[in-house]
Amino acid sequence: MGSEYLLSSVHVHTKFCDGKNTPEELAVTAWKQGLKTLGFSGHSHTPCDLEYCMTPSRTALYKAQIAKLKERYAGKLEILSGLEWDLYSDDDPAGYDYWIGSAHYIRGPKTGRYYEIDWREADLAACIAEDFDGDGLTVAEQYFANVAAVAAKKPTILGHFDLIKKINAGNKFFDEGSPRYRRAASAALVAAARSRCVLEVNTSGMARGFRQDLFPGPELLKEWLALSGNVVITADAHEKSHLTYGFAAAAAQLRELGYAKVLVLGEGGFAPCAL
Ligand SMILES: [Zn+2]
Ligand SMILES: [Zn+2]
Repeated sequence: MGSEYLLSSVHVHTKFCDGKNTPEELAVTAWKQGLKTLGFSGHSHTPCDLEYCMTPSRTALYKAQIAKLKERYAGKLEILSGLEWDLYSDDDPAGYDYWIGSAHYIRGPKTGRYYEIDWREADLAACIAEDFDGDGLTVAEQYFANVAAVAAKKPTILGHFDLIKKINAGNKFFDEGSPRYRRAASAALVAAARSRCVLEVNTSGMARGFRQDLFPGPELLKEWLALSGNVVITADAHEKSHLTYGFAAAAAQLRELGYAKVLVLGEGGFAPCAL
């Protein structure tokens, strides 16, 4: 029994959405790296924004290519067909081997606009100014309410739990240490525990230079452990060199926080792996 968690990467984006590589390129890299499992998780179609997600026709191509790769790599590398489903998506996540449930948007209560909260500072600033009376903490509360709504749908994996902090380094838009922020995050965590979600421990904030910490951060991971929650380590890879970026560091941090095991996703579902 080795470190099986180093051999399964299931939060992976391709050129069909906003990733840099084709499914083939990623499969070859995974196989050469000695991975056991590669799961693709393309961004599901949302009507709010077509910039980064798959259109319905691209989704069909994506599924067909993954099906081909599954056959080509049979016996060599487990290929899983997954989806990163967004709260505002109109795709049906049931048509996949597994799905990651994520909240990427806030819907403005005044303007009805969908704001992407994890990319452009200008978008988050506009969201706060135009729809939330200049109060960034209200946006954070709305974000965590959205995460709780995703959790209630019981995804295979609950995606980047505290993504709202991604472009908030230095507490630029709201104070992550404030009681309101902590309360909102904790309430969503309890909702996730109630739905028996598996949380991903996502290394992409570090890989892409946005943050020094994981999604979720150490405080939330401690609370999750107290709730007896399970985790799976993921990269949210958007390029082939990131398939297992930071996995060993994430495992070390989980151990330090008191975690004794992580879950590893494969063809047969989740299996526990000692840390
Ligand atoms: Zn995402
Ligand atoms: Zn992703």
